Amino acid sequence: MENKITIKKGPLLTSNEGPLIISGPCSAETAEQLMETAMQLKKLNRVHILRAGIWKPRTRPGAFEGIGSIGLEWLRDAKAATGFPTAIEIANAKHAEEALKAGVDILWIGARTTVNPFAVQEIADALVGVKVPVLVKNPVNPDLELWIGALERLSRAGITELGAIHRGFSSYEKSKYRNKPNWEIPIELRRRIPELPIINDPSHICGNRELLLSVAQTAMDLNFDGLMLESHIDPSVAWSDAKQQVTPADLNKILNQLVLRKSSFDDAVMLNLLEDLREKIDLMDTKLITMLSRRMKIAKKIGKYKKEKNITILQSNRWDEIVNSRLKLGTEKKLSEDFITKLFEIIHQESINHQNQVMNKEKKKNIS
Ligand code: PEP
Ligand code: MN
Repeated sequence: MENKITIKKGPLLTSNEGPLIISGPCSAETAEQLMETAMQLKKLNRVHILRAGIWKPRTRPGAFEGIGSIGLEWLRDAKAATGFPTAIEIANAKHAEEALKAGVDILWIGARTTVNPFAVQEIADALVGVKVPVLVKNPVNPDLELWIGALERLSRAGITELGAIHRGFSSYEKSKYRNKPNWEIPIELRRRIPELPIINDPSHICGNRELLLSVAQTAMDLNFDGLMLESHIDPSVAWSDAKQQVTPADLNKILNQLVLRKSSFDDAVMLNLLEDLREKIDLMDTKLITMLSRRMKIAKKIGKYKKEKNITILQSNRWDEIVNSRLKLGTEKKLSEDFITKLFEIIHQESINHQNQVMNKEKKKNIS
């Protein structure tokens, strides 16, 4: 099912130079904290949009769940003092209505809301006939369809100033990130909806200050359209996400260190060189696919043999041997452990599928 999403990039989501920068506290805490943060951000002269959370969907109850509607007044004051367009997270129709009434300029749907089609539909219904930019954070789980589905619901409601925020994906395994970036997901989103602006949110990916620059740099190197970075006048005492917020001065330092590259190049010599290298890669990919196909044919032969001898598809010892020897060779060839592990897991799974076809062919026939 293909659904065409119409995107019109309005002035609020456009930066004339460099990436679109959205910054401000994780949560609005007091009128003074929000105003002071906004004033300091304004002085940097490179932030485009002021963000603040008013209603905070916290994982566990008992934590600070947002200051609520009063924060809308503080945002209005901060906007009047600085001229910043403002952005907040909304999670239901009531939030949407209150935000619009208070003159909030941009709405975003948080990661814990994008996962819920009922909630997203409720918000979309509340926005019918309204002209407001809406940014959709990726769902907490790595599910591109769910992310696109939320964008489609808003698109069907008539919202055209759409954008996506990549804030990373939660996982059960330990990781250096609070939410793993899984860059392949926003890259595929870009391939599927090329006109959709994608904003990277290093703060929620990292969960700490140390990694912010490297994540932001990766996003820039992948040609993302903007960055959402949380800032606070005194991060150490922040009421939420204290470990990942930075002072406006530190935000400036991060932005100063970012290397911005052009998205295409016009130099003819470089272009030729690149074409040459790409041809080589195309050839290697053809070889890789041919080899993989041959590997699967051999796996099928093994499947036939296993069937005759009535032995199981999975032979743990053999699999263990494959993992260890391929990891060793991979390391020698300067390929990362993570890459080799993932690569052979999917190759192995495909082999199992092929063997399964051979071994259980008759069963399917019996059923149908
Ligand atoms: C936030 O932006 O402060 C927030 C709660 O983000 P997320 O929905 O990405 O967790
Ligand atoms: Mn936050």
